[in-house]
Amino acid sequence: MSEERSSDGHPHAQAERLNALLDEVAATNAFQRERLGGVQLRSLADLQLIRPVDKHELLADQQAHPPFGRNLSYPPERYVHLHRTSGTSGATLHVLDTAEDWDWWSRCLAEVFAAAGVGPSDLVALAHSFGPYIQFWAFHAGAGAVGANRLALGGMDSILRLEAIREYAASTLTCTPSYAIRLARVATENGLEDALASVTRIICTGEPGASRPAIRAQIEQLWQAHCYDHAGLSEVGPFGYPCAAGGGLHINEREFIAEILEPGGEQPTADGELGELVLTALGRRGFPAIRYRTGDMVERCDQSCPAGHADRWLPGGILGRTDDMVVIRGMNVFPSAIEQVLREFDEIGEFRITFYTEPTAMDEVKVEVELA
Ligand SMILES: [Zn+2]
Repeated sequence: MSEERSSDGHPHAQAERLNALLDEVAATNAFQRERLGGVQLRSLADLQLIRPVDKHELLADQQAHPPFGRNLSYPPERYVHLHRTSGTSGATLHVLDTAEDWDWWSRCLAEVFAAAGVGPSDLVALAHSFGPYIQFWAFHAGAGAVGANRLALGGMDSILRLEAIREYAASTLTCTPSYAIRLARVATENGLEDALASVTRIICTGEPGASRPAIRAQIEQLWQAHCYDHAGLSEVGPFGYPCAAGGGLHINEREFIAEILEPGGEQPTADGELGELVLTALGRRGFPAIRYRTGDMVERCDQSCPAGHADRWLPGGILGRTDDMVVIRGMNVFPSAIEQVLREFDEIGEFRITFYTEPTAMDEVKVEVELA
């Protein structure tokens, strides 16, 4: 937990901001008031007095009080942004932000773009779909906040996107890591290799991978560009920014309190162990995230990055989701870890991973690959 590392995360400032947040939401937010019960923290160690909350609880609250639930600190007229999650596990979460909270999103994402070296001379091509998902809108706001020009590539197929990147000579591409690989392949298959030439950096988000050395190396080789990672969640905020020096992600500890807890439990994990990232967003007041179990699995690393940046470093980024994790014969297996191995081979194109149980009740993994 952050207060164990007093050199970073500015624990005193964090505790002060957190207490102000707790005071405000306890007065106005029915969902948080029930959870928090007027708790006041003397130090960040007292954070453990607050029971962690997860997505299932937010979903249950929204189902009981449709559509937005009770995790709202203000009356409806204060909110100006409505997004929803893609509902990978079935149910959709509805997320509201006020103008102030959206400014906070924008500032946090500006740090992501700044860490990747994006500025006013850049044109950022955003290869995300439009729609109610927060990713495109937040990236668009964040790139604007560092003064970059922005090219929205929603509603286009890959060929049209490549032609637009070429026409405007975009310097920066944002997309998922798997789409970065796919888009480069589409360029090669369609004689559009010159569309890759102007792009000097790719900022990946939306799925794990860009912090994995083999996946990053493949993206960098295909595009001849730097690959950076970012992580955020609709219901929490944009918490991870890339480390240009050491790869992987840093947690933005000016805006988030990060804990890494044993999966399903409340004990902090030790250095080098896998744990679930539990986050508290300090600057999001309208739809608060306080001790929120992200479902993102990370490996705790107590070392500093090579550049000595103060914020907590996650060299491998997000390793997978707690709900993607499959236990095979006692081993925790993430599909993204298998992908990492597959990406070390240039010959491998698309692939499929199947987890199944033999009639003899032995757990098995089958990996089918297509040659590129
Ligand atoms: Zn760093």
